[in-house]
Amino acid sequence: MTDQWIYLDNRFVKKEDAVVSVFDHGFLYGDGVFEGIRVYSGNIFRLDEHLDRLYASAHSIMLNIPYTKEEFTQIIIDTVKKNKLYSAYIRVVVSRGAGNLGLDPRNCPAPSVIVIAEALSIYAESLYENGLKMASVATRRNRADILSPQVKSLNYLNNIIVKLESIQAGADEALMMNSEGYVTEGSADNIFVVKNGKIKTPPVYLGALEGITRNVIIDLAKENGYVLEETPFTRHDVYIADEVFLTGTAAEVIAVVNVDQRVIGSGKPGPVTNSLLKVFRQVVETDGVKCYTESEIAKLV
Ligand code: PMP
Repeated sequence: MTDQWIYLDNRFVKKEDAVVSVFDHGFLYGDGVFEGIRVYSGNIFRLDEHLDRLYASAHSIMLNIPYTKEEFTQIIIDTVKKNKLYSAYIRVVVSRGAGNLGLDPRNCPAPSVIVIAEALSIYAESLYENGLKMASVATRRNRADILSPQVKSLNYLNNIIVKLESIQAGADEALMMNSEGYVTEGSADNIFVVKNGKIKTPPVYLGALEGITRNVIIDLAKENGYVLEETPFTRHDVYIADEVFLTGTAAEVIAVVNVDQRVIGSGKPGPVTNSLLKVFRQVVETDGVKCYTESEIAKLV
């Protein structure tokens, strides 16, 4: 077993030594931001978009990231290379850093920056073949005027609570509505429905994170001749859809075949979902920030 190296505040440390203070406000208060990013065949997929979102989330909560985006790009590449990874999942965390027990961020002199890159534990292929079960949950998506869903903060309790609710309902994923009852997203994935060949996804202002995979799928769907609308819809529209699928960095494109005990379409992943997953998996192979030169790759694989 080779060592896993974690980037922690300007240096690489072994996994066992990668510890942060119990006074870190990320730990005490969920005060910080994060990103989850994928590496496909040595290329970091949509790294610029992930960094833009990280910096936007940090700006929104007045958290100063102590690197330029160019420097952060290099840190992430270096972390992948240090761990000799080819297909990987990367977690980037910037927390407010260590302070005292009060919540005032002014007592936290320096943010903590963490980059974890590890071998991918991909979802079982059977999940893509059979699809997921969703349950709608009582807990509503955070309202934008309370904690904007666009801020990818370390405060994920809203998402964790709905995940628990869905598990208790015997499902794999949560269908989250906003306080008006419009569908927003899953616990950590965006949602799409397909009806009569037309694809719909909720506008992000209703209460969804603007997912990077979501945006890629919107573009790919349009390029492939599908009609796609960002438009509000309700649980009823999900129940009567021909297909439902979720998108996210970890999940890619995954079918939902049952929602609140209603079978969706044929009860199997549908043709639109399958075709979008196929084109998505082609795009990710070539599109991305390269970590390795050709000769380095030859040594890796
Ligand atoms: N919604 C939420 C709440 C998420 O945490 C994620 C995962 N980042 C997504 C949607 C999907 O976003 P992305 O495609 O950028 O991974």
